Amino acid sequence: MRYIRRSMNHYLLVATVFLLLGTGCQESSNSSTEIKKGTTLSVPLSETQASKQMVVKNHIVWHWENRFEKEEVYQIKQWLAVIDNAIISTYGKYPFDVHFYIHRAKSGNEPVPWAHTSRGKNQSVHFHVNMDYSLQEFLDDWTAQHEISHLSIPFVGKENAWFSEGYATYMQCQVMELQGVMSSDEVKEKYQSKLSGCKKAFQSNLPVPQAADSLKKAWNYPAMYWGGVSFFWKLNKSYESEIGKGLSEVLMEYVKCCRVNDSSPEKICLKWDEITHTTIASKLLESYTQDPARKHFEEF
Ligand SMILES: [Zn+2]
Repeated sequence: MRYIRRSMNHYLLVATVFLLLGTGCQESSNSSTEIKKGTTLSVPLSETQASKQMVVKNHIVWHWENRFEKEEVYQIKQWLAVIDNAIISTYGKYPFDVHFYIHRAKSGNEPVPWAHTSRGKNQSVHFHVNMDYSLQEFLDDWTAQHEISHLSIPFVGKENAWFSEGYATYMQCQVMELQGVMSSDEVKEKYQSKLSGCKKAFQSNLPVPQAADSLKKAWNYPAMYWGGVSFFWKLNKSYESEIGKGLSEVLMEYVKCCRVNDSSPEKICLKWDEITHTTIASKLLESYTQDPARKHFEEF
């Protein structure tokens, strides 16, 4: 399930790790209104602060579920600090603590063979990590970008997995682009090839949610995930052409003003409509829940 394997710009990695781990700077109290793409913020500096920079970070609560060596802890923190930097560039700072549960993976031939979110009292991600892999290999992996993206919208129920998994799968590529491990062209190509790849699986007269549910029952998770991606791909395309903004810009607003619990795709789309002063998201969702799935894959 690894989607990419390419080296990250070494300078970017070193600089980011240095800024995130080395400065010990405090977060700006009104940072949420100041965040733009890129999280290392230039602020007016007093003479005594001349060499310092403000770095916005999510507030992470660490839970070490197994025994890890000091070097392993350092590597995991370096990895997730870089991902958090890209997450903030994509969504802004989350308005809640983010709980990371770190487990040692018992098997699996990748850095993070298993991970999932948990949305009870806390907004949490459980990572099962294989420490046989290097920091670079962790950074090239997509799992953390995917799981932490889930937290930017509320849990919408297992029955809406096409929506939540489509969302996290679409957004993981956006996060990876800002992280610098995928170029804009690579992201576009990936969407095109994956969406045309699952076109066949959605040649159904059932609406997308029901067609996706059948794919899930048949263990065809990649088609289910990427079928859901089509919704967010189309939403982004409509936003770009109709309001001159991308989905990520709308999400920045959403996370800042309206990220709440106990929601549904309908409620989330209504909120996005409020933010954009349009009915784009609700109309697209209505079409996804009523029209035959095959109609939505004609363009791929
Ligand atoms: Zn997911």
